[in-house]
Amino acid sequence: MRLDKFICKSTHFTRAEAREAISSGRVKINGWYDCHEATQVHENNVMTLDGEILQARPSRYLMLHKPAGFVSSNVSGRYPSLFNNLTIDNLISDDANNLDLADVENLHIAGRLDADTTGLVLITDDGRWSFNVISPKSECEKVYRVSLRDPITDDAINQLVNGVLLRGREELTLPAKLTVVTEKEVLLTITEGKYHQVKRMFGAVRNKVVALHREKVGPLNLDIPVGQWRYLTEEEVGYFY
Ligand code: URA
Repeated sequence: MRLDKFICKSTHFTRAEAREAISSGRVKINGWYDCHEATQVHENNVMTLDGEILQARPSRYLMLHKPAGFVSSNVSGRYPSLFNNLTIDNLISDDANNLDLADVENLHIAGRLDADTTGLVLITDDGRWSFNVISPKSECEKVYRVSLRDPITDDAINQLVNGVLLRGREELTLPAKLTVVTEKEVLLTITEGKYHQVKRMFGAVRNKVVALHREKVGPLNLDIPVGQWRYLTEEEVGYFY
């Protein structure tokens, strides 16, 4: 892990504050100042800040029930960032948890949702774990409840289940599962997460998604009210290792 990342994981410093601490000589590795922000640190190194030994906090894993109108990004744009709002009272269930989220800069989303999509978002600072959630190689199933403009047809179901060609791509989407709830509402299960994938899949069969909600990622069901978040249990974290 990079030294600046380690400093963030072991303090409540932002990345900029960590870099400042390193460049101003407050940080030592094994007693030596000879380090910079990108120096790789290992478990058996001893890092100190102002002479105090630093210990990395354990990684954080949480689920959030994303409301519509937020971007899945650390930075606000046309819509506000989901992360800014993790620290806003109406989006947290527990003040104590808020402290741990002080350095939201190090958190990232394992599988983004569009601003207008609602539902289950996984958030972590563990890059290997999120890779396992996102990578199609892991075959982690994501279940979406899809509301459609037009009634679903048998032909469309057949195409979606076997794979459709998204505009600008050369290969078919991977096989999917589809359950019809009503003629204009379906549950779609996919293992990929291409840009706007679900909307583009229905576009490819000449329909249109009018509302999209992610209900499930792997074995994890969304079980918290909209706008709330909770830490995952050890068992839930373990599903993706
Ligand atoms: N597919 C989409 O089109 N949008 C999402 O937000 C998620 C999957």
